[in-house]
Amino acid sequence: MGTILYAEDGRRFRNTAWSWRSLWGFVAQHCDGILSTRDVEQGMRNDGHLIANDVAQNLAACLEELLDQGEVARYEQFHQQYVESLPLVQCWLCAQPDFDPAAEECYVCHGDEVIPSPRAWYSLTEENVRQFVTFCRKSGGFRIC
Ligand SMILES: [Zn+2]
Repeated sequence: MGTILYAEDGRRFRNTAWSWRSLWGFVAQHCDGILSTRDVEQGMRNDGHLIANDVAQNLAACLEELLDQGEVARYEQFHQQYVESLPLVQCWLCAQPDFDPAAEECYVCHGDEVIPSPRAWYSLTEENVRQFVTFCRKSGGFRIC
């Protein structure tokens, strides 16, 4: 499961579903007035929503400024601390009524009965933002699938 952006020239940009949601959420939060409410919502749905070239160029410019100001690095650090602070959650497989830990080893938690919070799957990195900026610059506009 993931998100693929298709540029007008056929190039692609791939993220996991979680890293895409983190990236798009960051963009929506920090690049005021570039995306419409519809862009923000449709961008989370992977249904082929089109981001026009002028919007893509504005996003690239906005994100480059945030990278230069260290805003992305600060956000990445903050997010990492948040993820590390999340409590472990009960293993979903061990919690199944028909799962018997005496009969088989749990391949999800390996017997720990707890796993990292699914919220830890969301991630935003400076590297990913830089890759997205490069993609936006060259894209000519793109579709979110
Ligand atoms: Zn388990």
